[in-house]
Amino acid sequence: MYPNTLLYINGAWGPGATGRTLPVVNPANGSQIGTVACAERADLDRALAAADQGFKTWRKVSAFDRSKIMRKAANLFRERADTVAPILTLEQGKPLAEAKGEVLAGADIIDWFAEEARRAYGRVIPARAEGVYQLVIKEPVGPVAAFTPWNFPINQVVRKLSAALAAGCSIIIKAPEETPASPAGLIRAFADAGVPAGVVNLVYGDPAEISSYLVPHPVIRKISFTGSVAVGKQLAALAGSHMKRTTMELGGHAPVIVFDDSDVDAAVKTMAFMKYRNAGQVCISPTRFLVQEGVYASFVEKFVTGAKAIKVGDGMEKDTKMGPLANPRRSRAMEAHVGDAKKHGGKVLAGGYPVGEKGNFFEPTVITELPKEAMAMNQEPFGPLAIINPFRSFDDAVAEANRLPYGLAAYAWTRSAKTATAVAASVETGMMTINHLGLALPEVPFGGVKDSGYGSEGGSEAIEPYLNPKFVSQAGL
Ligand code: NAD
Repeated sequence: MYPNTLLYINGAWGPGATGRTLPVVNPANGSQIGTVACAERADLDRALAAADQGFKTWRKVSAFDRSKIMRKAANLFRERADTVAPILTLEQGKPLAEAKGEVLAGADIIDWFAEEARRAYGRVIPARAEGVYQLVIKEPVGPVAAFTPWNFPINQVVRKLSAALAAGCSIIIKAPEETPASPAGLIRAFADAGVPAGVVNLVYGDPAEISSYLVPHPVIRKISFTGSVAVGKQLAALAGSHMKRTTMELGGHAPVIVFDDSDVDAAVKTMAFMKYRNAGQVCISPTRFLVQEGVYASFVEKFVTGAKAIKVGDGMEKDTKMGPLANPRRSRAMEAHVGDAKKHGGKVLAGGYPVGEKGNFFEPTVITELPKEAMAMNQEPFGPLAIINPFRSFDDAVAEANRLPYGLAAYAWTRSAKTATAVAASVETGMMTINHLGLALPEVPFGGVKDSGYGSEGGSEAIEPYLNPKFVSQAGL
């Protein structure tokens, strides 16, 4: 049932030049389920030549026709949800319902960008002289190199791919080696929908080798990366030294500010769902819960009860609510965070331990009263760990929310419109959602500030980084 994954270059699926492959492992039991082909330098050269030619073809396809092909890809991908979702669960671990949700959301994202393709309007600027026309024309930037991680193997690709194609760019995607088959399923939908050869290319291999070759390469005109801050900074520096445009969607350490006047039950229910979704391996995962003193005790009690009730298991099993962590690096990171938190006097009120002998399972964990110096208060845990600390005043909460160099997502709960407005204005973040979960829809901006990166991967803003404004001033003779 689980397919081996090949490279997709210039409209054809095939192995890498040397036939080298990497094993793909099911994180629920540690067993090998398949392989993924690795690209060598010769394959990258073929992908670059294909993307170069593909760009020349695709930029000439009208926005109307690009949009039609993209909509067809969206429909095919939607129709294949029940085939692709189990593949995603087998390679990444998330429960089947979440996997299916990711496929369907992916199809919606393609549709959104297909619509935006037809609205990449330019401008006419009123001229100072009669007979002069000042035009701003939006042109595609050129071939894109995109690097995507394993936590949302489809979602991370589909945002970059759809924006690039909508704008008229070609693309080489370096998708995650640990979860290769579900993004390949996405690419197959585009291929079957009639995207011309060379426009979309998919490679896997050694991430550092591939990025160090593609980013500076003269064919590539734009870089988009999703992953850790450390790698993002390296790639942004490399791209900067070659004057390449970049979009960086990096890590977060989202604060959740719960004020005394909140609906505590709604806050607990919504935030516990969001915390343990995809076992916390989400860049916008809520991590630092700052709860005002008046509701602190009841919030902690209810949140701990919620965390303990989550059924951990193989994502293929029907009643599983939280799957394994995607790789052993994350389970080791969780153990390190919990050990360090204990040393700093944090109280582990739920979880804290790996589950079972096989697979990367870890208990939904809640730690309270953790000092600022602890590792988990500073580094993104990227796992099922909620830290809950009390606060006294509005200013204390905002100071803690803004203490870290991250600024991706933030959450707040209050019944006061005045507090809601003030907190939205004060927290340094790219996205904020108050009293509900309202992030990551195709039509709204998605991106961070500070070390969390720059550029948006959602909303009408998301197509702009793939377009160059060309100014033309034209006078009659
Ligand atoms: P990592 O930092 O080595 O890798 C993160 C991602 O970047 C992976 O997909 C990897 O293939 C890729 N990568 C690494 N080096 C690269 C390079 N030189 N060129 C191009 N791509 C490169 O570590 P990891 O163990 O996979 O993940 C650890 C941390 O990464 C997490 O703790 C989290 O902070 C962050 N992360 C963030 C996201 C996100 O959605 N923003 C997703 C996955 C991981």
